[in-house]
Amino acid sequence: MSKRYRIGIGGIAIESSTFSPLPSTADNFVQERGDEIVANYPYFENGTFEGRQDVTWLGTLKARSIPGGPITADSYAAMKGELLERLQAILPLDGFFFDIHGAMSVLGMDDAEGDLISAIRALVGPACIISTGMDLHGNVTETLVENIDIFTAYREAPHIDAMERKAQAVRNLLTCLDEGIRPYRAWVRIPVGLPGEKTSTFWEPGKTVYGKLAESDGVPGVMDASLWVGYVWADRPRNSATTVVTGIDPDAIAAEARKIAQRYWDARRAFDFGVPTGDADWAIDTALAAERTPVVISDSGDNPTAGGAGDIPIVATKLLEREVIASGEKTVLLASLMNARAVQVAKAAGVGSEITVTLGGVNDPINGFPMEVTGTVHSLLENDETGGDIAIITVGGLHIIVPSRRIQFPLPESFDKFGLDLATFDIIVIKIGYLDHEWEELAPTRLLALTPGAVNQDIANLPFERIQRPMFPFDADMEQPDLTPRVFQPIGQEA
Ligand SMILES: [Zn+2]
Repeated sequence: MSKRYRIGIGGIAIESSTFSPLPSTADNFVQERGDEIVANYPYFENGTFEGRQDVTWLGTLKARSIPGGPITADSYAAMKGELLERLQAILPLDGFFFDIHGAMSVLGMDDAEGDLISAIRALVGPACIISTGMDLHGNVTETLVENIDIFTAYREAPHIDAMERKAQAVRNLLTCLDEGIRPYRAWVRIPVGLPGEKTSTFWEPGKTVYGKLAESDGVPGVMDASLWVGYVWADRPRNSATTVVTGIDPDAIAAEARKIAQRYWDARRAFDFGVPTGDADWAIDTALAAERTPVVISDSGDNPTAGGAGDIPIVATKLLEREVIASGEKTVLLASLMNARAVQVAKAAGVGSEITVTLGGVNDPINGFPMEVTGTVHSLLENDETGGDIAIITVGGLHIIVPSRRIQFPLPESFDKFGLDLATFDIIVIKIGYLDHEWEELAPTRLLALTPGAVNQDIANLPFERIQRPMFPFDADMEQPDLTPRVFQPIGQEA
């Protein structure tokens, strides 16, 4: 009879901007425990993975949050403590699937995922094989590589392959267990810090750079080749792009890692935004002059899908400065300005009432400011799963969606719950990074407004103090860096 494997699962996943003044706490996380974790993976079926009957999956704690600011030390300690306690209870383990994003920042900590995996490794011991499936916007330190056997990251941004890559991480773990393999890992820090908005894999050079990773997978001795753009809004020494190639042939993985790192380095100057960019005034003027409506504008610096606070009223203020919008001649839908107090006022007054409320300046008082508006309660949506109670407040032609909690509106479908016809607006303002394929049909003209906020796209002018220099684009003319891979010995077999 073949051996029955015991595989644990757990992790804490968040993308957190250290430029956000709004700390994240345990309340911001959806937390799953024990069997719930296995039951909820879309790539598991009835508690099994790809028909494998010889595995007992043991969930610990899996916590996942909307992107935000750094986690408070207390909240992190509480989640880490619970994960470790649950892990202790299910030992011994043959394997562990470390399910993280990779861009978690904790207040006062330089390498949060490194801290978590070190504690996990100390508990499970060197014999347990650990695999991770990460977002390509994560930062990968040597501490992570010292403790993890197998790395896999997404290869598409936007992340349409996320579930497939997570499944691949689990598949790789099973392969190592079945074949008794402890892989080598070749790691290269690539001193480049670029935003995800410039490095989409839907256009060049991201498309080719990421497309070629599959070639490395095919090299004998290589199990997985992964490349991380990294998460740039983190003023931490670990902030950079990285590549890790996992496999059984140390020379082959080192050669592939060097090739991948060099390819990314060589492409660094070619990465660019996929749509026209400019300041907020330029975006509004361009949109108002467009022949075909609606025009979509992204208020990119305040993007909650990347860590923005979601309550900076700069674009709203500028929209109302335009007479055609203030008068109602042109209509704009703006998603969103979070403000729980304003929603309470709107609810108390009721649909159709005129109210005066203050929006902005709460979550991000550094980049934002309070903006007083007098408008009409257009509609109310109660107990939304993610946004809580939500009000739409109309000021002239501007319809402002005001949720009680930070919420994302990444797709046209995100607005279905309001019953609005998006095609009737002249302008739709959203706060996301990628404006490509999903919005294309509705809005042929899409503009990225380069606005202030926790995820300001003007990377080179952000007040970084702790990143390792030189790094592109901060040191735009830096010379070719040393991209020699560091090869890590198989865990448990170190000399
Ligand atoms: Zn990502």
